[in-house]
Amino acid sequence: MKVKIANNAGFCFGVKRAMNMAWHELEERENGIYALGPLIHNKQAVSKYEDRGLKTVNELNDIPSNESVIIRSHGVGEDIYIQSKNKGINVIDTTCPFVKKIHSIAKEYSAKGYKIIVIGDKDHPEVIGINGWCNEDAIIIKTLDEIDQLNLDANEKYCLVSQTTINLDLYNSIVEKLSERLNDIVFKNTICSATKERQFSAKELSKEVDCMIVIGGKHSSNTQKLVNICRGIVPTFAVETKDELDINELKKFNIIGVTAGASTPDWIITEVINFIESI
Ligand code: SF4
Repeated sequence: MKVKIANNAGFCFGVKRAMNMAWHELEERENGIYALGPLIHNKQAVSKYEDRGLKTVNELNDIPSNESVIIRSHGVGEDIYIQSKNKGINVIDTTCPFVKKIHSIAKEYSAKGYKIIVIGDKDHPEVIGINGWCNEDAIIIKTLDEIDQLNLDANEKYCLVSQTTINLDLYNSIVEKLSERLNDIVFKNTICSATKERQFSAKELSKEVDCMIVIGGKHSSNTQKLVNICRGIVPTFAVETKDELDINELKKFNIIGVTAGASTPDWIITEVINFIESI
């Protein structure tokens, strides 16, 4: 049995940076730190951090004054920084720099009188955070067709940004349609290539192997996308850890491909690879 690993698998740059920063801070403190929302969509990794003292809360109000809070890689709106300061809460900001860039664009253009349009999922924490840098006043769209429902003023100024994980084709088609409807619009392509690279590598590897194993959280949307891509090409097993692998099933295949979602830590990937190689 041979194992092949996708070129881009597991933590992206932003998640790796955030997780390293959080771990470093936890090691520095004895009493632990709070995180505003789950650090990542991987319960094994979160529980490892919780064992070291991480306390996950959903509201800033759940954190006592003089404590520290980790802002995760998705980022948050400006009000969280203001409220933290007012409450005397120390902010450990692990927001991905690519997301930070969108925050500055939203703030800058909103201050200049531009209406911000965000392509993305209105319920995604990243989009909620972006909206929090332009007075919670952004127009949020997820599909091309939604543009027809918008009440746009051709004489107003607009600035378009996107959630980092959206599809480039969708971005381009929205740019084309908005250019036809509006006279003054600034387009900022804020898509991050990490997701696309992961999907491309998974697809290419699926063509070279007899089956694929996709490692990642059951609730991680980028992991589920990888599963769907691989499943369209070869038999694919979606697992969170090595314990979910079925040895008898795997024995039917000679070359096994492995990939992992952007929130899967290296140690879980290594465990899976070692396990397959030991069969
Ligand atoms: S997917 Fe891109 S934008 Fe999101 S955390 Fe990773 S590197 Fe940053």
